[in-house]
Amino acid sequence: MTHNQWSLPPLPTSTLVSNNGEEPHIDAEINKAMKNYEHTEIVDGSPEQYEKVKQAIYDLLDAFNVNWDDPNYSETPDRVARAYLDYWATGYTRDIHKEAKIFPNESGFEDLIIVKDMKFYSMCSHHLAPFSGHAAIAYVPNKEKYIGLSKLGRILEIYARRFQLQERITAQVADALVELLDPLGVMVVLYNVEHGCMSSRGIQMHEANTTTSAVRGYFQKDAKDSGALRKEALSLMKL
Ligand SMILES: [Zn+2]
Repeated sequence: MTHNQWSLPPLPTSTLVSNNGEEPHIDAEINKAMKNYEHTEIVDGSPEQYEKVKQAIYDLLDAFNVNWDDPNYSETPDRVARAYLDYWATGYTRDIHKEAKIFPNESGFEDLIIVKDMKFYSMCSHHLAPFSGHAAIAYVPNKEKYIGLSKLGRILEIYARRFQLQERITAQVADALVELLDPLGVMVVLYNVEHGCMSSRGIQMHEANTTTSAVRGYFQKDAKDSGALRKEALSLMKL
């Protein structure tokens, strides 16, 4: 297995399966194009930004004519603004290059590495509703470098803690690993994902959960000699 046996496809392979037969939010091509929009999304945690978010939450509640004398609302704009800047949208300011420590692959192993059942939380950019689920990441390092196992979860979190789409997190994590590690193959699966915007809309959708996957390199169905490795990854993931 040498590094040059495969090359990246022009578009990410991104698929979405919904167990209730709903159409996916967005297809892979739009997903790819949307990446560029993200460059305008900045969370700098500045006092100006905090004030702006706080005012926006105040205006939202005010549009419902809430009674501002009710003590259950008086601190809400402040609380929500802090929650966005301190938790829900913190992925924007974090840098995969700073957080993902890369190690030299001194023993030159090229075996399958899988981490699964990583819990993640995100916020849907269509409805601003929370969604959460689990992730499994499989990759095969090249002969030169690999990444600490816990850092896979960090990379996931950096992309999840934003206004997001499940499909986009999946593709971005896969692409980040390609960029950082130039691995022989990567497979990212987000599964058992429950979307607040879906589960809150109607009784028949309460149990809906979605799975998305992004595969690069050796794990792709049509990649040369990939069959065994792909099967091994899927069976170890047991998804
Ligand atoms: Zn949504």
